[in-house]
Amino acid sequence: MPSFDFDLFVIGGGSGGVRGARVAASLGKKVGIAEEYRYGGTCVIRGCVPKKLFVYASQYSEHFEDAAGFGWTVGESSFDWKKLIEAKDKEIARLEGLYRKGLDNAKADIFDTRAELVDAHTVRLLKTGQTVTAETIVIATGGRPNLHTALPGHEFCISSNEAFHLAELPKSILIAGGGYIAVEFANIFHGLGVETTLIYRGAEILSRFDQDLRKGLHEAMEEKGIRILCHDIITSVEKTENGLSVRTKNDKALTVDTVMLALGRTPNTANLGLEAAGVAINEQGAIVVDAYSRTSVPNIYALGDVTDRVQLTPVAIHEAMCFIETVYKNNPTRPDHELIPTAVFSQPEIGTVGLTEEDAAKRYPELEVYRAQFRPMKATLSGRSEKMIMKLIVNAADRKVIGAHILGHDAGEMAQLLGIPIKAGCTKDDFDHTMAVHPTASEELVTMYSPSYRIRNGERV
Ligand code: NDP
Repeated sequence: MPSFDFDLFVIGGGSGGVRGARVAASLGKKVGIAEEYRYGGTCVIRGCVPKKLFVYASQYSEHFEDAAGFGWTVGESSFDWKKLIEAKDKEIARLEGLYRKGLDNAKADIFDTRAELVDAHTVRLLKTGQTVTAETIVIATGGRPNLHTALPGHEFCISSNEAFHLAELPKSILIAGGGYIAVEFANIFHGLGVETTLIYRGAEILSRFDQDLRKGLHEAMEEKGIRILCHDIITSVEKTENGLSVRTKNDKALTVDTVMLALGRTPNTANLGLEAAGVAINEQGAIVVDAYSRTSVPNIYALGDVTDRVQLTPVAIHEAMCFIETVYKNNPTRPDHELIPTAVFSQPEIGTVGLTEEDAAKRYPELEVYRAQFRPMKATLSGRSEKMIMKLIVNAADRKVIGAHILGHDAGEMAQLLGIPIKAGCTKDDFDHTMAVHPTASEELVTMYSPSYRIRNGERV
């Protein structure tokens, strides 16, 4: 047996990499981990966590307005962007510290440097030039925003990375894209008082979600004052005295302070030495892995966004735990990518798990669709015109609930809980047998007794 410096070396200190390294080290393995930027990765440093803090910040404008309906007189309010950034940065630094501490406590060796593969068992640490060897290597380098370099003027645009550190809050912003990031940031900036426009190439925002929710969210966002341009894309961005001058395919001309591109994310595989080690990538630049996250090189695994399977933090963590089971516990375990609950932290929020009505209709001959649309209780006194949508998709043949879709307050929290019965294969009868919690919005999920409509062979009946 050749001897190596490490049992495991992990490249990338994000959600997947840190979890894999920490757990392997706690099992007594000799582990090294290298990160070129900050431990915590996209999720903690410039993704999910700071984004959610921004979402909270942006909700106060509506809270202040709503308070009047409940008898409150709120004094003059103002918002200080720099204070928010400062508070957010402090919290992110605290979390980064916890990630490092977890690795340290498990006795993993932490390297603050970029690392690249030299061959299948050797990694070069760029800061010192030192090379180390490892029996097993994990690549968990994540992804980065697609900068859309073919767009004339792309260099004047920002991505979500910069949105977390803008020196000033812009007065106006144009956000390109119709996915998670574009929609979430459109609501954040609007809530903070920025004149916000979203531009999306397709017919309706959030292409992978249930049509009802997409339409409901679109209407709610427009009603708040967010402008949404569908069937359109930016064709050029120019810097002028008055700000950024933008032209679109549909011949619209806009002038805004900031243009943000949220057009998907690209796996971080460039200059990693993958070729030297023999690790295959696909056309999108993502590392190709088998069902156990193993790359084309048997002792090298890849986890999380760099593999472009499902770009979500809990998925990367799950893949890391399956890697541990497979490699260190003699229990080959495939990551399970079925029925992943997910949320879009838009305002109102979207929470979803399982099949959309459209996808379920393609897969099953008959569906029962239970749908409720109502004004949430809080909106009665606040006078805010907002609606909640809840939908359960049921396979008529065995009564299993195969999809749940919610638009409204706390939809993300509900999606997490709905993920359990749906993963467990519960039927609509199980939902019906469950006592309601009153008064809540989610009680609708157990009190929709008869189908709102059926879908037979793809047709609504
Ligand atoms: P998404 O894949 O969600 O959305 C990308 C958007 O950009 C889509 O609307 C897509 O259109 C559009 N697009 C792609 N290429 C082009 C192009 N060339 N011209 C015009 N439009 C284009 O990616 P995001 O960047 O929003 O987010 C990246 C990932 O991060 C997400 O997939 C998600 O997994 C994760 N994420 C999760 C969050 C959460 O859990 N709440 C929050 C933020 C991110 P089309 O739909 O037509 O393809």
